[in-house]
Amino acid sequence: MACDKLTLEASSRKCIKAISKARHFDLMLQLQRNSEIKLLTEHQHINWTATSFMLNYNLSDKDNAATSFAQHRQRSFKYKIFSQELPTLSCMRRQRSDLYPSADCLSCQRHKEFQSHFWTCSSHQDQWRMILNQATTMLTNILHQSSSRHRLTHEQLQVCLHESRTFISKGIVPTSLFDLVSSVCRSLPNTHLTLAKVYNYIYRQVFTHIWKPRYAKVIAHEQTLGISNCTKRLKNQSTTFQYLPKQQGHSAPFNTANHLTCPWVYWFTASIKQGLSWISYVYSPKAEMFRSFTTSAICSVTNPKDTNRISHRFSIDSPNLIDSLVLV
Ligand SMILES: [Zn+2]
Repeated sequence: MACDKLTLEASSRKCIKAISKARHFDLMLQLQRNSEIKLLTEHQHINWTATSFMLNYNLSDKDNAATSFAQHRQRSFKYKIFSQELPTLSCMRRQRSDLYPSADCLSCQRHKEFQSHFWTCSSHQDQWRMILNQATTMLTNILHQSSSRHRLTHEQLQVCLHESRTFISKGIVPTSLFDLVSSVCRSLPNTHLTLAKVYNYIYRQVFTHIWKPRYAKVIAHEQTLGISNCTKRLKNQSTTFQYLPKQQGHSAPFNTANHLTCPWVYWFTASIKQGLSWISYVYSPKAEMFRSFTTSAICSVTNPKDTNRISHRFSIDSPNLIDSLVLV
């Protein structure tokens, strides 16, 4: 397979997989709920390689080959944080307005309990601060073990970790924290592993010391309202909210004017030209350098709407693909 007259030595199956992942990642960033994350990404404030590793790293010393319940719980909690799907009261009220008359936070009683409020609620701040301080101690110890020459002080790490709290509350790794840890670890795998261990520790502590006590309050609140598991399983009788039927052709149709602005095409092209994975080039200046090299061929591979191109997409005779993406 070739791209931009450069032969791809990786298997074509892996390349198509990478192209699809890049495209879906771009679609995820375009969602309204991810507008802040997209802005932070465009300004290079997020390290996506470390974020991806952290979200998928769930190993511990005690776990063997099989996935334990603790691992599954940790992964699920991280992904709910990342996708802003924690079952807060506002989320539960949105789904069952017939059962939950109010979304007021049960801890402070002053604000609606959105996911953002869970992290900023005044009643959790002492525990949240304590967890970050403990995570700083853990990070200091790991860094001291990994390098004896470049030692960062506990205070430097504490300031950086506390400044990263908004990123941590969104399940992402900021570039500033990555750069600081990377300056000591020196190697990319070590940096990823160190950050993943610290993040996992933080989320485990948040789950145990903040989320579980908050969950106990929700159960007590449900009992006062007479909500049981049985009533939760009953079909929603509320008429206040109606889901709109799914619209056909929701994704943006492919056209030759649009495809030139698809940023994921540049990410993938940069990964071919310079090595590393496409996720290392998400909205990076390096990827922008490859705007002039890209063609419609990469877009057409992943676009199911474009039936004309599908029929030719793996054909060596296709004039549309021969320019840049050819199976050889
Ligand atoms: Zn509150």
